Amino acid sequence: MSERSYIAAIDQGTTSTRTIIFDDQLEIVNISQKPFKQFYPQDGWVEQDAEEIYGTVIATLTQAIDEAGLEFQEISAIGITNQRETVVAWNKETGDPLYNAINWQCRRTAKRCLELRPQENMIHEKTGLIVDPYFSGTKMEWLYNNVPKVRIAANSKELAFGTIDSWLAYKLSKKNVHVTDYSNASRTMLFNIRKLDWDDELLELFSIKREWLPKLVDTSGILGYTKEGIPIASMVGDQQGALFGQMAFERGMAKCTYGTGAFLLMNLGSEAILSGQRLLTSVGWKIGDEINYAMEGSLFMCGAAIDWTVDNLKLAKSASETEDLSYKVRDNGGVFFVPALSGLGAPQWDPNARGLFIGMTQSTKKEHLIRSVLEGICYSVRELFDTMVSECHIPLKELRVDGGVSKNQFIQEFQSILLGNSVTRPENTETTATGAAILAGLATDVWRDKKEVLAYWKSQASMSRGKDEQVEASYTKWKTAVKRSQNWV
Ligand code: ADP
Repeated sequence: MSERSYIAAIDQGTTSTRTIIFDDQLEIVNISQKPFKQFYPQDGWVEQDAEEIYGTVIATLTQAIDEAGLEFQEISAIGITNQRETVVAWNKETGDPLYNAINWQCRRTAKRCLELRPQENMIHEKTGLIVDPYFSGTKMEWLYNNVPKVRIAANSKELAFGTIDSWLAYKLSKKNVHVTDYSNASRTMLFNIRKLDWDDELLELFSIKREWLPKLVDTSGILGYTKEGIPIASMVGDQQGALFGQMAFERGMAKCTYGTGAFLLMNLGSEAILSGQRLLTSVGWKIGDEINYAMEGSLFMCGAAIDWTVDNLKLAKSASETEDLSYKVRDNGGVFFVPALSGLGAPQWDPNARGLFIGMTQSTKKEHLIRSVLEGICYSVRELFDTMVSECHIPLKELRVDGGVSKNQFIQEFQSILLGNSVTRPENTETTATGAAILAGLATDVWRDKKEVLAYWKSQASMSRGKDEQVEASYTKWKTAVKRSQNWV
């Protein structure tokens, strides 16, 4: 046996599952990844096969351990991070799923959510969420009302509902546990984020019985053992996992994942501050008596807007080329871009807004257009942070970034100037899995505490630029452009 400790982090995402093996200095030893099928049985419906998902977990776990040259017994702990809100219903005696997993993107309960509008304030007060088909509650209600097998299992007291973390913990523990952690529970619309318990009024609203739901466990803590005897020691929703993996442990620290869309989360400390502007409040993590909340906002278009300039407009050969092209011009040449290609989220919440280039003249070059797209992403992130800060009255301490687009130096630099704050990209951008690994290692004495783990934080690139008057003026101008993009269709 080796002297080192190793942790296997299972990152169960929307389109693929990855297992990453970390050593006790948080270095990545091996990564294994497997995609799985998506089903679209009707317009707007998205389903996945829960057994297939579990199959990809076992396959990647086995492969990653094997390729790292390790034995199962050398793994100190398993951590789970997962796509959030996706619901599985299964028979807790046989372990058989009773229907496909209903994916978070599935809109089948859109009509039901419209009916819930009168209860939206009450739901927001209790759960920190807005009413939307994303969240698990209406999906569970749909399963009970529409799938005979689910109803039969409920009648014979064999029904188990859970999000993906819950399903994986059940399967990995040889059907011994039916649990979920507080960060995942926060996304169900059934969980009271202040009382830290399932909410009876909400359970009644959705006709869900407490006994069908998993028991709540800490985000970091041993909740069961695999058949090889490895402790399953953490479960965390993917976005909260990334906040933890970015080691944004302190109130006021934030992370932004610049992927296809962008996800911003800010650590609120122990206060569950609610937003009046439809930003979400969830439990970030609960570890013993320590509870950390996070405020969350997202942009529909981030890398998607860059891909659009490359694939549709052919303004650049690749996403990475947009960096060089943007640096080629001194400024945006007066051109502004509003990335409202599929409407605007917070703070406008205008589904009828549409994308806009404005300010072009005869001297506009394609570099100006590209630069305006990258700037447009940064302005949108700034606007979301401004909204967040004004809602929670916590100044932004530091922004840590990850995701494909964060590799773009122009974006990182411009974002730093716009925020007047340091923007740091870590060497290890596998932040989601890192979060699950740290949480699992803390529960199994691989590390004593978070302070010890901080020693393994490595920044790859940090930009710290003060605010710039000209850029501030551009931001104000961009906001005028946003107004012009609104209420278009
Ligand atoms: P997701 O997990 O949402 O699929 P990723 O984090 O993998 O997203 O990021 C993918 C996005 O990042 C794509 O839109 C891609 O075009 C964009 N991207 C990758 N590298 C760069 C770069 N150097 N500059 C700008 N965008 C980039």
